Amino acid sequence: MAFRKIVKIDEDRCTGCGLCVSPCAEGAIQIVDGKAKVVREELCDGAGFCIGVCPEGALSIEEREAPAFSEEAVHEHTKHRPKTYIPQKCFHCGNTEDERILIPVKRAGDSLWVCVRCLPHLIHG
Ligand code: SF4
Repeated sequence: MAFRKIVKIDEDRCTGCGLCVSPCAEGAIQIVDGKAKVVREELCDGAGFCIGVCPEGALSIEEREAPAFSEEAVHEHTKHRPKTYIPQKCFHCGNTEDERILIPVKRAGDSLWVCVRCLPHLIHG
């Protein structure tokens, strides 16, 4: 166990839409009985790429005692995991990752995706 950052899911807010599943490269989040769940805590690295995609504000990061993050567990888990793919969108223009390359950014505590066409405008105004 370790005192560390890990995702917290507010089940009352979660609608089970599934948008948070594919941003988690580690496969830590799955929809179980209509709600998002961290299926194994050692798969969640607490990076928070899932947070910005939740339309309900159901995701946050907390610091608490949890099993240490394990790259080995992620490797084993993602090897057998069925592929789920929900394309992410640029928060600025709405284009998806199928149309443009997206880059993760942080803004006012939110984890967001921005496309390479919008990023220069955001940097230079
Ligand atoms: S994106 Fe939000 S509302 Fe949708 S499944 Fe994930 S936690 Fe639930």
